[in-house]
Amino acid sequence: MTCSHEHVTRRGFVNTCLGCGAYVSVALAAGDTFARKAFARQGDGDLVTTEPWARVEQLGDGLWAIISTPWDGATRTVSNGGIIAGRDGVMIIEGFNTVEGGAWAREMARKLTGRAPTHVVLTHLHGDHSNGLSAYLSGNLDERPQIITTDATRKLLAERSSEQQPETKPGETTELPFPIVLPDALVSASGETRIDLGDKVVRLVPRAGHTPSDLTIELESPRLVWTGDLVFHGVFPYYGDAIPSKLSASCKAMISDKSTRYVPGHGAVASFDELMPYIEMLDHVGESAKRAFEAGTPAAAAWQDYEIPTRLGEYYRFRPDIVRYAFEAWERELKGQ
Ligand SMILES: [Zn+2]
Repeated sequence: MTCSHEHVTRRGFVNTCLGCGAYVSVALAAGDTFARKAFARQGDGDLVTTEPWARVEQLGDGLWAIISTPWDGATRTVSNGGIIAGRDGVMIIEGFNTVEGGAWAREMARKLTGRAPTHVVLTHLHGDHSNGLSAYLSGNLDERPQIITTDATRKLLAERSSEQQPETKPGETTELPFPIVLPDALVSASGETRIDLGDKVVRLVPRAGHTPSDLTIELESPRLVWTGDLVFHGVFPYYGDAIPSKLSASCKAMISDKSTRYVPGHGAVASFDELMPYIEMLDHVGESAKRAFEAGTPAAAAWQDYEIPTRLGEYYRFRPDIVRYAFEAWERELKGQ
């Protein structure tokens, strides 16, 4: 890992840097019973706590999933995440949608483990996973965790933050909604990194597809994977930054073991069997988008005729045109853009 500290502060980050964050937050504010179903509790974890914005489920000794439930506009966290506690360290997965969300996750880690987090892992650049990172840096300097992601994700975060820097007149002070934190500990995008927390070795596996750089967090015993946004469970995935062929390939490589439980980026904890239809759905979308492309139908029109076959499950659409992003992403990839 290489380290370099840098904070970026600016206004406007809330707008579009968020990718799925903004869309998930806004659309779920008017969530219906179908949305609730997608995020409803499943699986065999023990419920530790429930807040209006998220619940915490224990998945094993020192292992918790944070499952966000933003359907009523409780957008403090929005993305899922988790806490992994070993003898020598405590890891939090994700920075969440707001500074308040990050602060809540940090407090949960302290409550559940009696210790401050030593590591924070950011799976990808989107704002609903990263906006709250600064919460981990407040308080005692010696209690600041390493904030870990890939070099590519850090670059994308930095690029998007500078793109959206508002123009200010000379002498005008800029009002900042929250500080943007760029992760300071970078892991390789070409091979996995192992972090030893004492009695638990956590594998950070670089993947791609939801964005140009996604990290998954994987444990051998018990077998658990935090998938980041490579997996949306019961929710149609956001393709705004996707490389669709890689999304499908990453999911097939990652979802390959029957005994593993998967904590998705959004939606309830899932088993291997529950995610098989999701993989098939990704391929079905791809085949339809390719057929449209070959027929010369623009993605902007083709998506409107697309229907997910019932056998592949139900997917909450957090905005009515969410499928358009998928067809457009395929179109970009097929054009070689
Ligand atoms: Zn995302």
